[in-house]
Amino acid sequence: MITTQQGKLYKTMILAALVSLVLFFSFQTTVYSSDIPEVRVAISLQQNFLELSFDSGYNLVNAEEDVPLALPGGKYKLSNANGLIEILDGQGHCLGLYSDPLYLEPFSEETSGSSFFSIDNACYGQKYRGMLEIFLDGGTLRAINILDPESYLKGVLPREMPPSWGDYGGMEALKAQAVAARTYALDNMNRQRHDNFHLCDTQHCQVYAGIGCETENTNRALEETRGEILTFNSNIIELFYHATNGGYTELPQNVWTSSLPCYAAVPDPFDDPSNPLGLSNFTEHSYARWETEVPLNALGFLLADGRTGENAVERVYVASVFPSGRVQELVIRGTEGQTVSLFKEKARTALGLKSQLYTVDDEPKSSVWIVSRLYGAEKKEHFSGLKGKCARDGYNTLRTLDEGSYVVQGKEAKGSVPYLSLTIKGLGWGHGIGMSQNGAYNRSKAGQVYEEILSFYYPGTEMEKIY
Ligand SMILES: [Zn+2]
Repeated sequence: MITTQQGKLYKTMILAALVSLVLFFSFQTTVYSSDIPEVRVAISLQQNFLELSFDSGYNLVNAEEDVPLALPGGKYKLSNANGLIEILDGQGHCLGLYSDPLYLEPFSEETSGSSFFSIDNACYGQKYRGMLEIFLDGGTLRAINILDPESYLKGVLPREMPPSWGDYGGMEALKAQAVAARTYALDNMNRQRHDNFHLCDTQHCQVYAGIGCETENTNRALEETRGEILTFNSNIIELFYHATNGGYTELPQNVWTSSLPCYAAVPDPFDDPSNPLGLSNFTEHSYARWETEVPLNALGFLLADGRTGENAVERVYVASVFPSGRVQELVIRGTEGQTVSLFKEKARTALGLKSQLYTVDDEPKSSVWIVSRLYGAEKKEHFSGLKGKCARDGYNTLRTLDEGSYVVQGKEAKGSVPYLSLTIKGLGWGHGIGMSQNGAYNRSKAGQVYEEILSFYYPGTEMEKIY
């Protein structure tokens, strides 16, 4: 027999379930209209659990049961419990074990636009818009932020270009970067570089840091270019950009192997550190001109016989350059006459240089180098004031050192070793293909609009508004 009170309770429960169900389905169909693609971004977690918190209520929806678990504002911890997902509240009480996938969604459609949740153990950001899918991938807990591309890009753009540029005449550069980031993201989504999600939140796909990094300038740049991407023959282009080109753009085939449409190798007076146009408010990128010293003996491993030591390399010279001045072939000659050629990008990366646009001082000079040959832990020495000097790390990669102090470890670590070194002078930072961010900034300050900026760096492309 059902008492009146019990009957009321059952009715309320059934009603609540129905309302939740209606809300669930209406949320699915109305928040993301069919013509706007949904972006699935994997949030990198610091541990194999998920620490969630939010102020207002969210529903946790399990696809099988269809009845949401209503979570009021607070803290929650989700973790793998033998193939199920265990949910603990802020006091450590277990709220249940659920099979995956689970979806974290705002209570109602009205609040979905303004509500956000935090992932307290996220690596690159904390507060996020949209919803979250949670599932187990071979025992690893995955958190996938599902949201519309514009909301996603709001958490990307500030990490790609300084938002403050917008306050100094650079709004059109931010808008050009907004179109570039959108084009890059949508192209990347089509490439399916990941299983189960479109994009990761690291540099591999573009750093995404959620709401915490959003700024007024970058949000405005996105709003004013909403849905706009660059296409060629109606296809999204494979888009590249970089920090500063040193005064000349580059073709993909002069850096890698294959060519692509929509790229050109032409002078860029708006990013040439000599400022040939005499612009009064010209900004020179801090890496537009650089100089580094490379010890000859550190290049011995590049020789075919892998000889190292003081007398392995005799000379290093540029054998040919592209019209831009970027190195096409760099030759390393050993003391026994053996030579090795490094082509294109290798002529930059093997030496750990900022760009491929450089010259080598042919006369080696004597320098002092800090060398660590073995990566052991027996001997440690501190060195400081090494900015601009070169050293091999434990992975045998040559790098230019930044300001700071260093610890040298290893059985054969030597504090001061005199070696012959080369002076290399270069221009630019990055591959030089496509848009130079610094060039875009100078163009914006000189009055160019973002369409002009993009058509210079991506000639032949069209701007298409896809939503
Ligand atoms: Zn990725």
